[in-house]
Amino acid sequence: MCDEIDAASDLEILNTEIALANRPIPAPRSPVCLNADCGEPSLDGASYCSKECCEDHARELWAAKNRRAA
Ligand SMILES: [Zn+2]
Repeated sequence: MCDEIDAASDLEILNTEIALANRPIPAPRSPVCLNADCGEPSLDGASYCSKECCEDHARELWAAKNRRAA
């Protein structure tokens, strides 16, 4: 019983380690909003001035990536 619990928690730790190892390296934060020609100063800890700008830019990047792939 105890062994099973230990094995389960070991597996959980391993999964967490794999997830951390595989996560994408975050791009350096930009002091200025990255959304197109917004030009507003970014929020602390973000590369965008607002959630809307972040979402807009993410959509743009997604579209550009998919255009290139097609
Ligand atoms: Zn912005």
